Amino acid sequence: MRLSLFKICALPAALVLLSLSACSPDAPPQTGSTAPSEVVPSLVEQPATNVALDAEFTNYSESLMQRMLQRNPEWSLFSGRYDDAHRVTLPDETRRADDLLFIDAELAQLAQFDPLSLSPALRIDHNLLSNRLQSMRWYLTEFREWQWNPSSYNAAGPIGLILNTPYASEEDRLRTVMARMEQLPAYYQAARASISNPTREHTELAMTQNRGTLNLLGSSLQERVAASSLESAEKARFEQLRQEAVDTIEGFVTEMQNIVSDLGDSAGKDFRIGEDVYEYKFAFDIQSGFSARQMYDRAMAEKARLHDSMDAITIELWPKYFAGQAMPEDRLQRIGRLIDHLSDQHVAREDFISEIERQIPLLADFVSENQLLEQDPTRPLVVRETPEYMRGSGAGASVSAPGPFNPTADTYYNVTPLDDYTDEQAASYLREYNHWVLQILNIHEAIPGHYTQLVHGNKSAGLIKSLLRNGAMIEGWAVYSERMMLEAGWGDQQPEMWLMYGKWNLRVVTNAIMDYAVHVLGMTQQQAMDMMLLEAFQEQTEADNKWRRITLSQVQLTSYFTGYAEIYDFRERTKQQLGNEFDLQSFHNQFLSYGNAPVPAIIELMQAQR
Ligand code: ZN
Repeated sequence: MRLSLFKICALPAALVLLSLSACSPDAPPQTGSTAPSEVVPSLVEQPATNVALDAEFTNYSESLMQRMLQRNPEWSLFSGRYDDAHRVTLPDETRRADDLLFIDAELAQLAQFDPLSLSPALRIDHNLLSNRLQSMRWYLTEFREWQWNPSSYNAAGPIGLILNTPYASEEDRLRTVMARMEQLPAYYQAARASISNPTREHTELAMTQNRGTLNLLGSSLQERVAASSLESAEKARFEQLRQEAVDTIEGFVTEMQNIVSDLGDSAGKDFRIGEDVYEYKFAFDIQSGFSARQMYDRAMAEKARLHDSMDAITIELWPKYFAGQAMPEDRLQRIGRLIDHLSDQHVAREDFISEIERQIPLLADFVSENQLLEQDPTRPLVVRETPEYMRGSGAGASVSAPGPFNPTADTYYNVTPLDDYTDEQAASYLREYNHWVLQILNIHEAIPGHYTQLVHGNKSAGLIKSLLRNGAMIEGWAVYSERMMLEAGWGDQQPEMWLMYGKWNLRVVTNAIMDYAVHVLGMTQQQAMDMMLLEAFQEQTEADNKWRRITLSQVQLTSYFTGYAEIYDFRERTKQQLGNEFDLQSFHNQFLSYGNAPVPAIIELMQAQR
């Protein structure tokens, strides 16, 4: 799901949870064999809290968030605050130096507060804030993506958002776009000066995406301005700025093209980030109790477990679907054959959205009847067709949550109708989201996945937990909820449902494996393709897209699996420890009561309250 448009950054769990004074930005990432249950227990050692200190910290942390938003008008904009929408951050050396000064000053202030003296909810805020600041520092000084990733420079995001979001009158928003276009030449000049030894992959992406920006600033915008009630002088000024912006971006694209040509046959800077950097980035972004290597080993074991269980199901179901036909010797082949056969069972193309609408209340009833977790009927989920401006990103379903600045807005389940697909595309899509997988998708996106987690999360989320939310917890919960629902009997324990779940879950598992294997272990494109096509039963198009995503991003693809594995393992441990006293509903309610905190932080607080 794509909940937010800004990047989630976090810090190594072991560093942050320990205590702030131990939080040197230069400390090495955690390594070795820390099991999730052993993650530094200090969030909870001293339950004593101090009301005055809590108030002081709340004051400070809220003002820090305001300062961070103030410094970053684009982040502010994507978080739903439009006051500074006209301001452009210039990505130049002066700004980076100033960022470092800001970060160090705030880290010093933050260190004045001992997290152990704060109440649990504030300890999490403390943790999230110091993660964010130290992560920013690391990104600036060590990761240095601003140097080698030209695709981090693109003027389109904020302008597109302003044009597509009716937060003010059309004319006011066009004036805001004008203000941004005025600063656009300086923005791209700073970008060009920052880029040095970029990777081929990110340079090519910068070309593609900035060509898209040219479309955004193209004839349909001209028509829109012409049709607006701007004064004619303003319209003329708009056109002049638009033309300058187009020239600037064309110049940038040409320059990126030249960089690629200059590379010739040489590969250029490797897109693979290597083991040391990967461990750091994993620790910062995911904030897991696992190291990256442990996550990888865990995912490999999970792949083997899934294959075993899927094969057992295939052998059981073979006579039902292929009576009289010989079963392939190779187990991956026979699993693939059965999945392929079952995928023919799906809704008709015109019923896709109505079927999703039909399932949502059934899922809610099932959760209530089985006492799986608390729901809030006063915050309904609205299923709607994905708005036009959000389409085209390839995601067929997503949840749009109200941001922290619009807390009373509805939560939407956006489903893209299949109208624009050819018959062939629609057939392929419907086979992917077949009878069984469509149900799992609804569990993941809606109930009790993302939507339900959001309803819980919003109750405890202030600005900090909303804006600095932990992506691995959010995605991990949605993935965990799929298995939890099936275990509770959704789908009546049908072997077909479990087989399709296996395929669905293999995607999450192999994403995690490949991300690590490609960036750290040197897995080749061919090896990755083989894993996706032969071991995870994916379609060629999906595998091609995934390979591209792996070359362009790092670590994010592991967040789903890491969060899921940590939550699942923790639940199993808790079950064992509590025996008859374990109550699934209480476990879930409590787990979700800490907002969007990192999983290890939630685990520590829950263990302390037992
Ligand atoms: Zn999701």
